Amino acid sequence: MRAVTVVGASLAGLTAVRSLRRHGFDGRITVVGAERHRPYDRPPLSKDVLLGKAAVADLALHDDEEEAELAAEWVLGRPAVALDPRRRSVRLAGGREVVSDGVVVATGAAPRRLPGSEGMAGVHTLRTLDDAEALRAELGRGRPSVVVVGGSFIGAEIASSCGALGLDVTVVEAAPLPLAPVLGGRMARVCAALHADNGIRLLCGVQVAGLVGGGGRVAGVRLADGRLLPADVVVVGIGVLPGTEWLAGSGVRTAQGVVCDPGCRTSVPGVVAAGDVARIQWPGRSPERRVEHWSNAAEQPDVAVRNLLAGSAVAESRHVPYFWSDQYGVRIQFAGSAAPGDEVRIEEGDPEERSFAAVYLRGGEARAVLAMNRPRPFARLRRRLPASGPPVPAEA
Ligand SMILES: Cc1cc2nc3c(=O)[nH]c(=O)nc-3n(C[C@H](O)[C@H](O)[C@H](O)COP(=O)(O)OP(=O)(O)OC[C@H]3O[C@@H](n4cnc5c(N)ncnc54)[C@H](O)[C@@H]3O)c2cc1C
Repeated sequence: MRAVTVVGASLAGLTAVRSLRRHGFDGRITVVGAERHRPYDRPPLSKDVLLGKAAVADLALHDDEEEAELAAEWVLGRPAVALDPRRRSVRLAGGREVVSDGVVVATGAAPRRLPGSEGMAGVHTLRTLDDAEALRAELGRGRPSVVVVGGSFIGAEIASSCGALGLDVTVVEAAPLPLAPVLGGRMARVCAALHADNGIRLLCGVQVAGLVGGGGRVAGVRLADGRLLPADVVVVGIGVLPGTEWLAGSGVRTAQGVVCDPGCRTSVPGVVAAGDVARIQWPGRSPERRVEHWSNAAEQPDVAVRNLLAGSAVAESRHVPYFWSDQYGVRIQFAGSAAPGDEVRIEEGDPEERSFAAVYLRGGEARAVLAMNRPRPFARLRRRLPASGPPVPAEA
């Protein structure tokens, strides 16, 4: 293998480049990125960036020294638009073709939008640095009232940041309770209570019927039950769509993500995928799963790269899913996966005080750990979780 193209210049893409070099690959690496920015960290976008506590420079994932060491060509501000699997050629917008022996797909995901919101001023999604800067500019103009559509982690963090800026905020969630499928009902209720603790309205079990506005600008959110929530700014956090459009017709199997075996290998030899875009077959789990967590995008590319360089399956993804969320001055950490019927045992602290560590038990075995503001016990309990896949086979 003499040349590798990495498509997607964010956390998974950069991690793939690092792994390629760490495993001794000294050929040509081309990184193609749709955004004009060098890789940057996304978690602060909904937190310190909105609060004005982090500047662009604070978000950089690597510096000039590492860039020189990695010796990759970065082609930024130009999305890949097609993949020819036979020649492993990636075509970029504008026509350039990058031909290589291996391709790493690390194109992440983009926010879903509310139908009818296209081009309406005052309506935002939050995925990129440009999104965060546009939203921050609007939040700082007067004292806008804000409606956040979607009460999962990103929506909750945006609501928390807007609340800390002293704004009037309402969160609208279609499900009866946000995050219940991830955390189970009891713990989801503890997280949802953070909104009320901090003076933020949370409306659950109601759909958004549409946006209202005039002169091309949003003025409110119409709910399916007829209520109208006036809003100067609406932030839509209703999930993401994996970045797979550019693979249409390439033979790379996609189904709400790039479908991969446990080694991040796609249906096309020489093409691997990692990070938010990858829908990995997790051994022992129903059929494939995309994981949209920072730690996954930081760990999985190494598995993808090892298999790409070996030309066979020498490693499998067996990381226990982990994420954190910072909202309302509380650090929430969760590892593993919860299932309906799990027994939740509080190991330390008290959920009422928003400071505790809890273990999810299934058949007497720890399957997940949740903590609020208890990083140490969380780290200890997390180590008890079984790996989510089989052991990594020895290097070939
Ligand atoms: C606001 C926000 C807050 C978050 N907070 C947390 C948190 O607190 N904790 C946590 O665990 N996780 C958090 N996450 C999730 C975490 O940031 C993601 O899991 C991680 O960024 C995924 O990395 P990735 O490289 O796989 O994908 P992405 O970061 O989505 O990067 C994909 C890159 O590929 C580019 N791309 C897409 N299509 C193309 C194409 N055709 N050609 C070229 N380039 C393309 C995109 O422009 C993008 O730059 C947060 C995410 C967001 C958006």
